[in-house]
Amino acid sequence: MPEYSCSDSLPGSLFDVIIVGSGVVGCAMARRFTLEGASVLVIEKAADILDGASKANSAILHTGFDAPPPGSQEHGCLADGYREYLDIHARLNLPLLECGALVLAWSSEEADRLDGILQNARRNGVTSARILDARQVLSREPAVGDSVVAALEVAGESVIDPWSAPYAYLLQALDNGASLARNCELLGGDFDGVEWSLQTSRGQLRARQVINCAGLYGDLVNQLLIAESNFEIRPRKGQFVVFDKSARSLLNSILLPVPTEITKGIVVCPTLFGNLLVGPTAEEQQSRSDTGVEANELHALVERGGRILPALRRHTVTATYAGIRPASEHKDYQIQWYSERNYCCVGAIRSTGLSAALGIASYVYRQYQDSEHRHVPLSNCQWPRVAQVADPGPRDWQQPDNGGIVCHCELVTRREIENALSGPLAPGSLAGLKRRTRVTMGRCQGFYCSAELCELTEGCFEQPLAVAKK
Ligand SMILES: Cc1cc2nc3c(=O)[nH]c(=O)nc-3n(C[C@H](O)[C@H](O)[C@H](O)COP(=O)(O)OP(=O)(O)OC[C@H]3O[C@@H](n4cnc5c(N)ncnc54)[C@H](O)[C@@H]3O)c2cc1C
Repeated sequence: MPEYSCSDSLPGSLFDVIIVGSGVVGCAMARRFTLEGASVLVIEKAADILDGASKANSAILHTGFDAPPPGSQEHGCLADGYREYLDIHARLNLPLLECGALVLAWSSEEADRLDGILQNARRNGVTSARILDARQVLSREPAVGDSVVAALEVAGESVIDPWSAPYAYLLQALDNGASLARNCELLGGDFDGVEWSLQTSRGQLRARQVINCAGLYGDLVNQLLIAESNFEIRPRKGQFVVFDKSARSLLNSILLPVPTEITKGIVVCPTLFGNLLVGPTAEEQQSRSDTGVEANELHALVERGGRILPALRRHTVTATYAGIRPASEHKDYQIQWYSERNYCCVGAIRSTGLSAALGIASYVYRQYQDSEHRHVPLSNCQWPRVAQVADPGPRDWQQPDNGGIVCHCELVTRREIENALSGPLAPGSLAGLKRRTRVTMGRCQGFYCSAELCELTEGCFEQPLAVAKK
């Protein structure tokens, strides 16, 4: 496995491409460039992948029905990313919940706006959308508040696993020859007209091309490397509440509000892990890393969820979290090649990056080819199958010799944890282990399994779970 652990020195060899950042966009980029035959190194400043914007989102695979119009970067990348996920997910063993979405109108004014959204969907190539009256909405979603007036149904909207997808993209890149260095922060770089020399927290690196996929830090990486940026990141926090698995049966589809200029609005959404999400909020903030949650926002989300699905008031919240969108002053993505400097910035991938990542990677690769860089695509590439932790299973707890269940809330076995810790792309933190296995993510939030987990993970993370025993 071409991963450079903290004790390894980094290679002095010249890479075709160094990708800065291992969020979902960097992972998809590494996959595309590797499969096309380029030599790729991904550098990530955190101890684990997916530690920025990609660690927390709504996990919706968007069709792009409400995306900016054709011709925008976001529209093209979303359409291609959506299609490619459908094409490859089964080969990588990635789950897909094809539940569809309803954009709910709660007043005649909102109902009047549905037709405009329908026209946008058709303009964007999403032809399956159609308007439902209140009776049709309630027959499809009987738990929705009966003051609903109408809805736009978008059949293709789906739910995916926000972590196993990018994990699989990067794993496929690594299995086919790419390299990864975590705990490796880009600090600066020089381009001599032919190649880049990058200064990192782990030493000097060389590459012909650099692709900035630094998400929430994209504008700062631009400043570090090319001393300019055509956008400024304006972090936009989104808080969520996660309802207990008992609430999951209350809905079949993703429930969306009629969107505003600023945000897609508060969504009520099933997860692939058998829960029900309400969120996200949309709050501008200065900090690029503060994912704290606030009681008043969470109460408002619970209240909002109860208005959409009245029976939700009888169910309990088991977790809360927040993510930060890498938004900017622009509406569209900011993907820009600086061909004369062998540099590309993939910036401001704000609220649809999970869905669009594969499309973004292909878009960037096409532009790279246009500037006369050519590689020979791999003829016989590896297709790793990632471990399945989505709720409908099959899961390891149903199989023999699994070592017993460690996390009873999420039914995570000792073998799943050991495999994650010893397997390829092993987690560099407890958060990473949670994203790979779901351990501690259930109703008790680790209350019952933390002691066993402490033992199992001893020596694995830079930041251990607890102070070492005497
Ligand atoms: C609340 C919320 C809800 C969302 N819902 C959805 C949804 O339902 N569907 C959907 O498609 N999208 C959704 N998104 C959007 C999606 O999560 C983002 O578009 C996506 O995560 C952006 O990924 P990224 O790779 O560009 O950035 P990031 O995930 O931030 O990755 C950048 C990486 O670069 C690393 N890095 C930064 N600086 C350096 C440096 N100097 N050296 C080395 N490494 C560095 C960071 O540590 C990080 O790991 C949502 C986002 C939020 C916040």
